[in-house]
Amino acid sequence: MSDAWIDIDLDAIIHNYEEITAHLQSGSKVMAVVKADAYGLGAVEVARTLSQRGCEAFAVTTVEEGLILRHHGIKEMILVMGPVSLGNMEEAILEDLHLSISDFSMLKNCETVASRLGKKALIHLKLETGMGRTGFLEKEWEELATTLARGEYLEPVGVFTHLARAAQRDSSYTQKQYEKFQEGIEILREGGIHNLMQHICNSAAFLDYPQWHHDFVRIGTLLIGHFPSPAFKGKLNLKDPWTAKARILHVRQVPKGAYVGYQSIYRTKKDTSLAVIPVGYADGFGVQPHLVPQGLWDFIKIVIKNFLALCGIYLGQESVSIKGHKVKVAGKIGMQITVLDLGDLSVEPGEEVIIPLRRTQANPRILRRYWLNKRLIGNRIIKEGISQPDPEYV
Ligand SMILES: *Cc1c(COP(=O)(O)O)cnc(C)c1O
Repeated sequence: MSDAWIDIDLDAIIHNYEEITAHLQSGSKVMAVVKADAYGLGAVEVARTLSQRGCEAFAVTTVEEGLILRHHGIKEMILVMGPVSLGNMEEAILEDLHLSISDFSMLKNCETVASRLGKKALIHLKLETGMGRTGFLEKEWEELATTLARGEYLEPVGVFTHLARAAQRDSSYTQKQYEKFQEGIEILREGGIHNLMQHICNSAAFLDYPQWHHDFVRIGTLLIGHFPSPAFKGKLNLKDPWTAKARILHVRQVPKGAYVGYQSIYRTKKDTSLAVIPVGYADGFGVQPHLVPQGLWDFIKIVIKNFLALCGIYLGQESVSIKGHKVKVAGKIGMQITVLDLGDLSVEPGEEVIIPLRRTQANPRILRRYWLNKRLIGNRIIKEGISQPDPEYV
């Protein structure tokens, strides 16, 4: 039995999908981005659910992720957005994955493998317009058109680019990327490569630039119930499909002044009870991605926070929720153990705790339980490296 698990409400995902499609420009469709195991929610389960609701396209980063979807019966278009290695081309082409091609060597590899297989490769051309990661550079666009016009086994079906500053709402940079993208499409058209599906919007651009929806919008963040940044809150009515939970395994009374955990950074301020849950940083709890300060004020806040920590005052300590009450984490979060300071709250072992676990950081080894129409329809856990249902929950 798992004492820590994540409940995933597929109805909330369907709700978000419908909320997004209601705001689509006519002629445009959602390409559901389910990379990184659908941001931790479960790529197969999310894709299956959306496919049953009419979603016609999915996107992942790697060929491996795309093949997992295919092997689980996802028949719709699957775009591999990341670069594709030579070793992965054959299986990708055989399984009809749409491949992003972002440089000439990849183009050549793709053509070689496709001609050997005698099967056309479906490709989306990735144009570099300001993200600075992958994509054909502006100076290569003419040659790209010429090369494609000659390629017998390459079937260009799409063209796209990725926006670097849409979530920051830097409209002048974003606008420049868009204009460059359109220039690229024009050059391809002049070179005889036309009728390509265009897609540029991620979640942020989908909200801010409806005029850019084109054939597809590539949406991940909004589908899983988040906004790209707090500035977008309220632009759609989204539901949160994600609740991470754990059971309290141990409760103990301690007097005022008791130290808790590594480095003894926490000391109880009064007589209290401490509770232990079997979740820690190995599960992703309390783990934050490295954030770059957004401006001077943000930087000052970080400096102050670090200075106070040096003085033994910890701001922004994580907290959890028990029976609707906010409860503070006491001391440092351990690898698989976290201590909670219950204060006056009376709680027995076995009580459920809601944990603010970042979805992309949540360890895939934590049991996922899937709910549809308020019914448990499946679950999955990784044991000994293999994904399997947890019999306790079937
Ligand atoms: C992740 C990703 C998206 C989706 O972005 P969200 O902001 O999460 O909707 C779209 N396009 C590309 C290329 C991506 O890598």
